[in-house]
Amino acid sequence: MTDLADIKEQYRQFGISGAVYEYGREILSTLQERFEQIDRTAEYNQLKVIRAMQTANVSEACLLGTTGYGYNDLGRDTLEKVYAAVFQTEDALVRPQITCGTHALALALMSNLRPGDELLSPVGKPYDTLEEVIGIRPSKGSLKEYGITYRQVDLLADGGFDYEGIRAAIGGRTKLVTIQRSKGYQTRPTLSVAQIGELIAFIKGIKPDVICMVDNCYGEFVETGEPSQAGADMVVGSLIKNPGGGLAPIGGYIAGRKDCVENAAYRLTSPGLGKEVGASLGVLPALYQGLFLAPTVTASALKGAIFAANIYEKIGFAVVPDGSQSRHDIIQAVTFGSPEGVIAFCEGIQAAASVDSFVTPEPWDMPGYDSQVIMAAGAFVSGSSIELSADGPIAPPYAVYFQGGLTFPHAKLGILKTLQNLMDKGVVTADFKRQKNLL
Ligand SMILES: *Cc1c(COP(=O)(O)O)cnc(C)c1O
Repeated sequence: MTDLADIKEQYRQFGISGAVYEYGREILSTLQERFEQIDRTAEYNQLKVIRAMQTANVSEACLLGTTGYGYNDLGRDTLEKVYAAVFQTEDALVRPQITCGTHALALALMSNLRPGDELLSPVGKPYDTLEEVIGIRPSKGSLKEYGITYRQVDLLADGGFDYEGIRAAIGGRTKLVTIQRSKGYQTRPTLSVAQIGELIAFIKGIKPDVICMVDNCYGEFVETGEPSQAGADMVVGSLIKNPGGGLAPIGGYIAGRKDCVENAAYRLTSPGLGKEVGASLGVLPALYQGLFLAPTVTASALKGAIFAANIYEKIGFAVVPDGSQSRHDIIQAVTFGSPEGVIAFCEGIQAAASVDSFVTPEPWDMPGYDSQVIMAAGAFVSGSSIELSADGPIAPPYAVYFQGGLTFPHAKLGILKTLQNLMDKGVVTADFKRQKNLL
């Protein structure tokens, strides 16, 4: 049997002191009930995924790929049936040719909107990269260039929906409503599936034929149900986040109503061709196995986020969501209030990586941002944020956004390493527990 002293010694070899290790252990002992809840959700979702694979008759032949045009690609077509079953939708488009989450969202929007239509976001500003898709920031090829207008209704100060504002914003040209589930890199709360369901019911009550699309990035498998089961006509996301389970090397998905998915397929490939072409090459085993692992991988990331929230909240830093709030995505924000805190945290995450652990992340002028940004990522799949990763703008309030962890032990190592580094750099003092009268 492995005893705790052996494990502690392993951590010591990573430079983690006995005090930091013991603090982590005390925090963990308070989280057992929540972790059991997460395991139950993962168990439910694991069974859901296996059942979807069985129902779709996934066979060994599905793991082979096609080349060229990719006609009659059994594995590709079956994987789309599996996604449709998991999300309980009529159809799905799941392709390595969808390069990322932004691409999947742009595809869903551009294929279902026509010149003269209006797009509405009833949940405030969308994710940064969508600003250029929509044309909020001028950009070549934006919806705006095609004569598609955009309206936005912000959330109320308490994070609730501005129902009267939304009612007033829905007009004759409103064709599609985009609802972002995750807060992304904002401070507003993430929406639960139930809240999204209420919002969609309200909107459909005013205009039944409006298409409701949910940006599902970072939300998949966090709950037992998905927004498509709460009235969404389309759910859209990236395979290098939750549903790829850390194994998918590329890809995006759109699951939803048959006509909406069909429009997206004709836009992705070509009018007349739609879903019939698109070789899967060699990536299908990773997409299948990644989806199979996604419920437990998402659970690991979720546990890491909750562990981090509790570690830093009890030391006295502001965390969003807080240590006890219910979770609807895998992102954790920690506000350090100083550049040194953000940098030390990211260095700690990087030092815990399996890949590129020896590099030191540094703030840089990233395109599209006003301030410098620091990023920590030592990922098997480049840029994958279901893997242990963190980033933060070097600007007030000096918050880092932390997410991922394919296994909980890895997430735990990363978080302990951040705390150790913050102590080594003097951002957190060695007697932090006594100072804050903790535990
Ligand atoms: C990550 C993300 C996107 C964009 O996905 P990329 O793969 O980075 O292009 C869009 N919306 C939300 C909420 C996200 O988290």
